[in-house]
Amino acid sequence: MSQEIPYKIYLNENEIPKQWYNVRADMKNKPAPLLKPGTHEPLKVEDLEPIFCTELAKQELDDTTPYFDIPDEIKGFYKMYRPSPVVRAYCLEKALGTPAHIYYKFEGNNTSGSHKLNSAIAQAYYAKQQGLKGVTTETGAGQWGTALSMACAYFGLDCKVYMVKVSYEQKPFRREVMRTYGASVTPSPSMDTDIGRKINEEFPGTTGSLGCAISEAVEVAVKNPGYRYVLGSVLGQVLLHQSIIGLEAKAALDKYNVKPDIIIGCAGGGSNLGGLISPFVGQMLRGEEKYRIIAVEPASCPSLTRGKYVYDFCDTGKVTPLAKMYTLGSGYIPAPNHAGGLRYHGMSSIVSQLYDDGYLEATSVKQTDVFEAAEMFARTEGILPAPESSHAIRVAIDEAMKCKETGEEKNILFGLTGTGYFDLVAYQKYNDGQMEDYIPTDEEIAASLAKCPKI
Ligand SMILES: *Cc1c(COP(=O)(O)O)cnc(C)c1O
Repeated sequence: MSQEIPYKIYLNENEIPKQWYNVRADMKNKPAPLLKPGTHEPLKVEDLEPIFCTELAKQELDDTTPYFDIPDEIKGFYKMYRPSPVVRAYCLEKALGTPAHIYYKFEGNNTSGSHKLNSAIAQAYYAKQQGLKGVTTETGAGQWGTALSMACAYFGLDCKVYMVKVSYEQKPFRREVMRTYGASVTPSPSMDTDIGRKINEEFPGTTGSLGCAISEAVEVAVKNPGYRYVLGSVLGQVLLHQSIIGLEAKAALDKYNVKPDIIIGCAGGGSNLGGLISPFVGQMLRGEEKYRIIAVEPASCPSLTRGKYVYDFCDTGKVTPLAKMYTLGSGYIPAPNHAGGLRYHGMSSIVSQLYDDGYLEATSVKQTDVFEAAEMFARTEGILPAPESSHAIRVAIDEAMKCKETGEEKNILFGLTGTGYFDLVAYQKYNDGQMEDYIPTDEEIAASLAKCPKI
């Protein structure tokens, strides 16, 4: 049987999905609505329009439309780097000696090196349609900023990126890629914005966080006519665009009648995980199929496994709407020795609600274990994985090893979200034996959670 399955399952170009799937439409318990920070009223499209492009604001608040047509220009762009392959990890299986069948959906085959381009191109498209001059955003590890720079270059939009200071310093080459595509890149917190100056005053010498960078990018968008803010993860619209990952993966596996028993994704803000699992969870929600789904997060930023499911701000500066999500508190900043991305304090409210309803499990892993898995994957499957993706690799390997004990031939599917060519400072630390794990104490998490708004 297994010999029939090729190393890489590609769809044909005309089999790329023509619609995105909005999993919220099938959820009985909808994600809790976004609230206005001042009054705590549910947000309407008009409230979001000063911040987001109008079409994206509509997608953000749409809980009921199951499918959205992908506009022709986006479909055309997708064809430059999609479909992405589902790869059968024969070499990894062999090295592990496992009877499990391991598959991964590889999203790293584009210059941004990650799945983020799937949403970046959509968001840039709607900004262009609206006749805007440009967009502002934050970036952590740099993949989102790179993806957005590429998308903005394609549509001739200006792109202002606020990059978390620690990454700006650790990853100078990421910055150059973004500048090559025409973006401006500012380390955050900066002295250019009110909120940046305030954060710098309150936390002198801070290395920044995604939450700070979001506050700065929102401020710049709101203050500059013709600009809107775009976000690379967490939001409902981003999960909608990322559903292309899961739709393609499902179509590819269906060709060979493979049903995944376990689906694994790394979870930062939840967009790749949400996108990968959407069509599968849709089946679960409609009572058609069952899958075991595992979200993997870093032990140093464990929002699902150790956070609370409450309303919180999406940013450190508390300028964004309130979202109900698993959160560590909007002031939470992971320890500076945390190497990979996945450093956001909260989690997509869709993923949060699905988790709360028991449709998925969550687990956290230490970064030294993550890099051990990354190294094994690189040596067997040949791809140098992003540290973020390697969280999923770690758990895929662990699950495959459990199959070795029980002799079960389970099908394991995981999301290989990107490549790690810009993460070599972290790889260097690991190779030199200098990587340390930092796990926050209960007291640290409790202190950060105590600052969540009371709603
Ligand atoms: C951004 C990123 C992630 C995490 O973001 P999610 O929104 O949780 O998917 C994971 N892997 C890579 C390669 C990324 O660039």
